[in-house]
Amino acid sequence: MRAVFVGSPGSGKGTQARQLQDRLGVTHISTGDMLRTAIAKGTSLGRKVAPLLAAGQLVSDELVNELVAELFRSPNRPERFVMDGYPRTAAQAAALDALLNELGLPLDAVINFQIDEEMVLRRLIGRTGRGRDDDAESTVQNRLTVYRETSRDLLTYYRRQGLLHDVAAADSVENLYKKIVKILQPKTV
Ligand code: ADP
Repeated sequence: MRAVFVGSPGSGKGTQARQLQDRLGVTHISTGDMLRTAIAKGTSLGRKVAPLLAAGQLVSDELVNELVAELFRSPNRPERFVMDGYPRTAAQAAALDALLNELGLPLDAVINFQIDEEMVLRRLIGRTGRGRDDDAESTVQNRLTVYRETSRDLLTYYRRQGLLHDVAAADSVENLYKKIVKILQPKTV
């Protein structure tokens, strides 16, 4: 199973990706987590991207493409994985395709987490104070605007490839998990 999750911040992609990792053993790849780790460790990459994450802006395609390429070029590269938060632009999707084709690991499916912006705002702002630094209301608004602007081309890219599956994401964690597994499980071989 090799899948990409696309959805706005707060749509539940991270939660579902962690469920798949825990229950089916597929590797959860989150560029957001990788960047936050770099920031926490104070690496030069971390220092470079910290202000972008704090503002809810995207890191450059080049930088995240390189992070992901490094992961796949390492000897213990994952062969079954779910990507959460990458690719985020059509250019990142094209770079990922090139990389995975070179490795003979093409994607099986892309899941589009569909959810109202209003619900997402309630969820993310509810996380303020006990969640991530970038969940403050002004940053959340920014992340949603960035998502609106970049996701259309990304979704078109995958729809054209016939890989895109829409799921209604405003559901319980367990129901959503079942819907996703139903789509992905036939592709698990
Ligand atoms: P969310 O989906 O809730 O925004 P993420 O953890 O996926 O959470 O991303 C957090 C931040 O990390 C983004 O706002 C952005 O600054 C940066 N980031 C993560 N993935 C990418 C990516 N693929 N391209 C560019 N920036 C990214």
